[in-house]
Amino acid sequence: MANRTIDRYAMANDASHYLLIPKAVASPQNLSEISALLRKQFESGHPLTFRSGGTSLSGQGVTEELLVDTRSGFRGMEILDGGKRIRVEPGVSVREVNNRLKSYGFKFGPDPASEIAATIGGVIANNSSGMLCGTEANAYQTIESMKIVFSDGSLFDTASPSADADFYKLQPILHDQLMAIKKIIDNRPDLQKEIARQFSGKNTMGYGINSFIDFHTPTNILLHLMIGSEGTLAFVSEATFRTVPIKPFATSALLFFDSMRAANDALPSLVDSGAAAIELLDKTSLLVAQRDPKAISRMKSLSIKEHAGLIVEYQELSASELQNRESQAKDVLSRLKLSSPSSFTQELRTRNDLWHVRKNLYATVAGARPSGTTAMLEDIAVPVHQLATTCESLTNLFEKHRYKDNVIFGHAKNGNIHFMLNEDFTDSASRVRYERFTDELVDFVLADGGTLKAEHGTGRIMAPFVERQYGTELYSFMVAIKRAFDPKGILNPDVIISSDSKIHLKNFKTSPVVEEEVDRCVECGYCEQSCPSKHLTLTPRQRIVIRRAIATAKLDGNSTVVRELNKAFEYDGIQTCAADGICSVSCPLHINTGDLVKRLRLEKSSPLSELIWKFTSKNWSQSLSVVRAGITIAHKAPLLSKIATKSLRALFGDEALPYMDGTISPGKKRTATNSDKPDLIYLPSCTGEIFGPSGQSNFEEICAKAGLKIYIPEEISNICCGTPWKSKGMKHGANHNSQENNALAENLAKLGVPVVSDNSSCSEGFISSLNGMQVIDAPTFLAKYAIDKLQITKIGSVVVHPTCSSTKLDESAGLLTIAAALAHEVIVPPNWGCCAFAGDRGLLHPELTKSATADEVGFIKNTGADSYVSTNRTCEIAMSSASGKNHVSILDLLNKQIIQR
Ligand SMILES: Cc1cc2nc3c(=O)[nH]c(=O)nc-3n(C[C@H](O)[C@H](O)[C@H](O)COP(=O)(O)OP(=O)(O)OC[C@H]3O[C@@H](n4cnc5c(N)ncnc54)[C@H](O)[C@@H]3O)c2cc1C
Ligand code: SF4
Ligand code: SF4
Repeated sequence: MANRTIDRYAMANDASHYLLIPKAVASPQNLSEISALLRKQFESGHPLTFRSGGTSLSGQGVTEELLVDTRSGFRGMEILDGGKRIRVEPGVSVREVNNRLKSYGFKFGPDPASEIAATIGGVIANNSSGMLCGTEANAYQTIESMKIVFSDGSLFDTASPSADADFYKLQPILHDQLMAIKKIIDNRPDLQKEIARQFSGKNTMGYGINSFIDFHTPTNILLHLMIGSEGTLAFVSEATFRTVPIKPFATSALLFFDSMRAANDALPSLVDSGAAAIELLDKTSLLVAQRDPKAISRMKSLSIKEHAGLIVEYQELSASELQNRESQAKDVLSRLKLSSPSSFTQELRTRNDLWHVRKNLYATVAGARPSGTTAMLEDIAVPVHQLATTCESLTNLFEKHRYKDNVIFGHAKNGNIHFMLNEDFTDSASRVRYERFTDELVDFVLADGGTLKAEHGTGRIMAPFVERQYGTELYSFMVAIKRAFDPKGILNPDVIISSDSKIHLKNFKTSPVVEEEVDRCVECGYCEQSCPSKHLTLTPRQRIVIRRAIATAKLDGNSTVVRELNKAFEYDGIQTCAADGICSVSCPLHINTGDLVKRLRLEKSSPLSELIWKFTSKNWSQSLSVVRAGITIAHKAPLLSKIATKSLRALFGDEALPYMDGTISPGKKRTATNSDKPDLIYLPSCTGEIFGPSGQSNFEEICAKAGLKIYIPEEISNICCGTPWKSKGMKHGANHNSQENNALAENLAKLGVPVVSDNSSCSEGFISSLNGMQVIDAPTFLAKYAIDKLQITKIGSVVVHPTCSSTKLDESAGLLTIAAALAHEVIVPPNWGCCAFAGDRGLLHPELTKSATADEVGFIKNTGADSYVSTNRTCEIAMSSASGKNHVSILDLLNKQIIQR
């Protein structure tokens, strides 16, 4: 149980606009631990709330009681029947499931846009869906069985051959209550009709009482009631699903209409034609999308008045099926009243651009919101024929309440639309405005025959309106269901069922103005899974949340919280951030929390360390010699070096000196090469000088074998990309290095050839420091200009550890091309991630690298391969030490495998 202030505050926030600080955080790791925890809470009557990916938007994942993190444990997964089914535990993300299923040609049915972070537990509990799955492939339709832990800690497996009898034995009151409700509904056609109407489309309001008309056995009713129950009925510890086949052939089109009504009129024929996805963009969405650099030219040139757009996609299993579908679709298109002619395209780049623009709408609007406001993403659905009326009412409502830039977009096929509101909840007038807006929204959505939540769950935001949507009788069944499952009311109180009619207006999240990165963040949680410090200390979202919590506590005058958070943040937030910036890749707003941390380091750096680092920048070659001498001593006298390091760290702090275990020896000093009319400028990395073996000779030899002439500048021993100073936040050293590199760039540019570096993080550094010059990472360069000229003896298999730099640079393809040329089998660990070595961070904090690499190492240890490669010297050291398998530079392996002609 974690009770530190920083743990409670870091876990408090999810993606919703509600904030409650939990009393404590528990992280049960398996079935017996969660069962024991529930039993204890049941006996004491103290409530708890499950939290998995924390991407919920309706306030169903926050609490001021006990918060139970169910993502750090519950990570098992088993592929069944060649991918047709999957057994999975709730802490696994949708993306992880799909990564595993991909090679079998299948995918998980539910497809929320948040798949990078949303977990199976969250998808089940929210009955999440997306652009494609509709109501045909959601969790309700694809679930086969579940292991359930009831509120009293008892366990039930719905797959048991004697499930109905077991259920009765275990929970007789609940069993009888469900069957009593079933009996009433079975005898009342009017209720059956109303339930069927409510659930004719996407609907996540209240409990899934369609279970009573769709299923007959008590176990099946129970199983399907669990879908969409938002952690208020029981815990799901494992689930088995049917999967859906991946349809790899696709064609897409962007259609413009003169009005929302015209777009709406087109929907029935498009739906009937079997479109896999039909996404709506209202007038404001089109205006926002026009600003996106990837917007296709037809979108950019449209003169938008009252227009609306539909992005339509067909997907099929084979090229011939797609061909048929496309020709039918052309027919449909010819009958539609479009604003301008349109056609379908199978071309990947155009399709990617179309979908990028659609998916980027949320990020663009959220990223541009005024600092200090909280973003809310709303989610309603109406019968498809009502869509235009509802959108018009919504637009009028925005105007009436003076909400600006509110894009309306969504899954038109299902009548499901989303819109964003930005609100400053510190302002009482804004809170009143939000209340009035919500009341009016509820009025017209229900009048249009819609649902107040289509896929995001009822949460707290719509709990007060469940009775209005369903009527008193159906609502009374829901209250009875909740009581029967959770007689002591300990599971996620006030979510779905609440006696507080104002619960949706309480505990709003406020967003104090803090730092640029912090202010833009919408706390969606997309960045968490890729962060190397996530298991050790904090995730990027949590770093941001703590910055906000400190600012809020300062405003509230809560000095104890400020002190405790600041103290713990030093290690949890600052020292153990690898500053690798991999979080920016998964963040929809491209927020690089590493940049924030670097600035915070800068603020904390002492004048002495600034002076020392400035000196190193001015005397880089000599500084490298000193470091190399230190490494030589540590290599030759490891024990002595360990004692000295420990003592110095005890005196001057953990950041004073890195740990050297004596296994590393220095590389060779870099040397210049002058050649006439070179094909490339080569800047060997200084990491090869510090941590041997040096990469320079390998790259030079490969180029020579491929007939490429290289140029290495005279001053190479003094050249550095600048990353050491930037990552440590040493302003003066960084400035000096930047001046040097500006001058270098000016000279090198005269040669008119690209710059290549052999360490991916240095390539990344040179891209930003050699202004405007073309800089290419060595594997990418060799894949493009050398590999075809070389004869290679292939090895059996190679494990590749792509680096975060090559991922950020989008240069992993080059690395994989070389790997494919080198080995018959190329294995990229599916759970690979940043190793967090990050220059010297892995030496300063070995526990960070150990934690960051644990999952990947587990995979590597079970995978025998002939060789293990990467493209960053420090990552190779980190992965070798963590896995016990010697990781070398891919250049090293390539050089060895080239057959000399
Ligand atoms: C930017 C953005 C885009 C989104 N897009 C979509 C979308 O396209 N479609 C969509 O449907 N949703 C979408 N969502 C909402 C959200 O991502 C989904 O509802 C998601 O499935 C929630 O999963 P999670 O792992 O984050 O769950 P959490 O938010 O952690 O938890 C969700 C609920 O499940 C309960 N819970 C978690 N695990 C268990 C368990 N094992 N047993 C019982 N209860 C449990 C929790 O108590 C909570 O009530 C989006 C969210 C964001 C921020
Ligand atoms: S940093 Fe980006 S990805 Fe992470 S929570 Fe904030 S907005 Fe989401
Ligand atoms: S820079 Fe790296 S370690 Fe730091 S928050 Fe981002 S992903 Fe995590």
